Amino acid sequence: MSKLTPMMQQYKEIKDKHKDSILFFRLGDFYEMFFDDAIISSKVLEIALTGRNCGQNEKAPMCGVPFHAAESYIQKLIENGYKVAICEQVEDPALAKGIVKRDVIRVITPGTVTNSKSLEDKKNNYLCCLYTKNNTAGISYVDVTTGQFYTTDINENIETLIIDELAKIQPTEIICNEELLNNENLTALLSTKFHTYINKYEDYMYELNNSIDVIKKQFNIASVDGFGLKERNGAIIASGALISYLNDTQKISLNHINNITYYSNSNYMLMDISTRRNLELTETMRNKNKQGSLLWVLDNTKTAMGGRLLKKWIEEPLLQKNIIEKRLDSVEYLVNNIFLLDDVRTLLKDIYDMERLISKIVYGNCNARDLISLKKSIGVIPSMKRMLYDTDNKYLQELESSLDDLKDVHALIENAIVQDPPLSTKDGGMIREEYSKELAQIKMAALEGKQWISNLQENERKRTSIKSLKVGYNKVFGYYIEITKSNIKFAPDNYIRKQTLSNAERYITPELKEMESKILGAEDKYIKLELEIFNSIKDSIKNNIKRIQKSAGIISQLDAICSLSHIAYRNNYIKPTINTEGIIDIKNGKHPVVEKVLKDDMFVPNDTYLNNDDSRMIIITGPNMAGKSTYMRQVALISLMAQVGSFVPADEANIAIVDRIFTRVGASDNLAEGQSTFMVEMSEVANILNNATKNSLIILDEIGRGTSTYDGLSIAWAVVEYISNNNLLGAKTLFATHYHELTELEGKLNGIKNYKILVKEQNDSIIFLRKIDRGEADKSYGIEVAKLAGIPDSVINRAKNILFDLEKRDLNNEAAATICSQIEKKKIETGSSSKQVEQISFFNNKGENIIKKLNSIDIAKTTPLDALNILYSLVEESKKL
Ligand code: ATP
Repeated sequence: MSKLTPMMQQYKEIKDKHKDSILFFRLGDFYEMFFDDAIISSKVLEIALTGRNCGQNEKAPMCGVPFHAAESYIQKLIENGYKVAICEQVEDPALAKGIVKRDVIRVITPGTVTNSKSLEDKKNNYLCCLYTKNNTAGISYVDVTTGQFYTTDINENIETLIIDELAKIQPTEIICNEELLNNENLTALLSTKFHTYINKYEDYMYELNNSIDVIKKQFNIASVDGFGLKERNGAIIASGALISYLNDTQKISLNHINNITYYSNSNYMLMDISTRRNLELTETMRNKNKQGSLLWVLDNTKTAMGGRLLKKWIEEPLLQKNIIEKRLDSVEYLVNNIFLLDDVRTLLKDIYDMERLISKIVYGNCNARDLISLKKSIGVIPSMKRMLYDTDNKYLQELESSLDDLKDVHALIENAIVQDPPLSTKDGGMIREEYSKELAQIKMAALEGKQWISNLQENERKRTSIKSLKVGYNKVFGYYIEITKSNIKFAPDNYIRKQTLSNAERYITPELKEMESKILGAEDKYIKLELEIFNSIKDSIKNNIKRIQKSAGIISQLDAICSLSHIAYRNNYIKPTINTEGIIDIKNGKHPVVEKVLKDDMFVPNDTYLNNDDSRMIIITGPNMAGKSTYMRQVALISLMAQVGSFVPADEANIAIVDRIFTRVGASDNLAEGQSTFMVEMSEVANILNNATKNSLIILDEIGRGTSTYDGLSIAWAVVEYISNNNLLGAKTLFATHYHELTELEGKLNGIKNYKILVKEQNDSIIFLRKIDRGEADKSYGIEVAKLAGIPDSVINRAKNILFDLEKRDLNNEAAATICSQIEKKKIETGSSSKQVEQISFFNNKGENIIKKLNSIDIAKTTPLDALNILYSLVEESKKL
């Protein structure tokens, strides 16, 4: 390329430093993009691609967007997986020597958007850093819109545990080190399971000492041990790299990120990715909507912060009895004090998203209205403290005593910002006059000037005796005195002609011009001063970020507890008893979501009893559509809700703390990951058998269905044996199956109990009673359910015939098998000769002829008379045997 123009040279230098981003290069009122960036952006944003001279006779592809509308364009690029580097003028053009200096002031990435409409109020937007080294990993994640920063490390089974952890975090962007990117298995899993933007971040950043330094600097601390990171190298390195990435892209000091929360995944109930999806904790499996999920039922939070926390609670059920009970006790207290609950919830309604307001202040994109929102939120705290002060509940009292009422911050905003400020920070009108003497003086000067001008018309009319003389203002000429053409002869000598109209002349005077510059100068001054004051208030608030965040955190907890209490009260949930003895005893339990969806109390409640002893595993049989899956999920969800600290949908519930919930539910293939339906099923079963402990809860909804009947039954049978034998002794299991043979295991293996879901046969159809009872179902009613589903009658009738034939054949095979096994037995008992055995098999072969004849009969086409004849011939033949 020939020599570039100076501006394009500047562009190229900046672009070279941001090769992986689309560079938004500010030129006047536009952000322009050039070369490949322009080609990509014009396609993604559907805007015109033009060209700009970039050197001698060469044109660079170019496109642009107006800077005031840039947000929606940036959002679209981000949603399409691009990063956007915003390049602004960084010096005053009036002072610039040559071309104005420009630089990138921020790189916006999917995990660091702060202003985007794609941010959901009640959902965090996490940027995650993954670091792997040999068989260890560190995971750190941050939400820049709230300042929350978490980290953990993994020292075994890293591929599975990273996927499980990410299923909880659901990051919108992942950065990682080279080693991880080279792990093809893991990267394939990451990209297929999460569809998240994954990128390598400079490998030299993943270095322990460097990370320690970065953390110390960001948090202004002498040692990382204070965050519980001592010797947790994976977590330290991932955190350090994450902060470095933030520094590189955000380019401002992020003082709202002021704490790292280290957690161990052994603090919470573990769930793998399929369990989270199967149980539909925060979104439905089918269309990923909140509606229809457990969160949808439990979320009645009044603040966005509370909504985010409740989601986190549901994703991280607790394991410690005392902490679970602490939450449950507070819910109980509020349910019993319903007026207090209502009052607190009414207060919560007036609280804005304080966490995100703080982040807006840090990013500098807040306006005076945001400060008023913050003030209004803080203004609620004293009443909230008063309400909580008298409560007789430990957790609520703790919240009250640690809730800072932030009176000083409230007073600062109250004294400085007018009640109803404008949206823009550039036109003044935000700051109360009383707040600054200087501001008041400037405003007074401007006001006096305006008064002088409004008096001028009256004074000049008197002085000149021209009654029609007017004083006016326009943007081009400023203030002027206007005299009609007929009166211009009376114009005084000090009037200077400025503009001629068709029937009037406009004049200025030196005094008028002097006053005008005073007024206009004063306006400029006070707008500038207002902005200075506004920025200084933001700075004062920044100094109190930690305190504000702490109060926001407490309000979130209170909101989440209030939501659980409100739902418990409204849905008639009960307080579960928590035990560590392995007993799950539920009376009249209900599925929280199905119950809500079904109208008019149509949900049929059911009991559950599991223990560590004779009822460790329940084998559930019953027709399709009877409610087996619903029942099993209901048990899992009730257990999970109890460990979240929520009341549960039941009449009574005694719930054992479980370390993990596993589910193997339904058939789904994962072709994208190269796994067939059966392979997915078997992988899930393998995961359960390899990772469950005696304290786990396992839900198996059909296994072995994706292969031949005998293969499947054998696998299912062996799995039941494996779980109920010593391997997983005590793991509570609910196993729904259509392999009725498995019910034979009750009594043969320890801890197994058979249950069935009752149905009533009526004429040719069945009625679902949805009630669970001891015992085993006699048949599957698949054809009846197919009929209910609308399968054509001819297919149904044909299926019935085939079933009849198959069952008959099974019976015959069974008979033959019995005979064979008797022969075998006899052989062993008596040591019979081969001749004797042949005789018996000859006898058996002859019998088979009759069986063959029976099999060849087409009952549907056989008349009663034919049937009698056939029967006669068979009887005759049998006599010959
Ligand atoms: P399949 O064997 O075909 O998978 P299933 O026995 O697992 O069927 P579910 O899917 O649990 O049956 O339930 C079928 C439908 O029955 C549910 O969608 C729900 O609407 C209803 N249902 C389940 N349990 C109950 C209940 N206890 N009370 C009322 N309706 C219920």
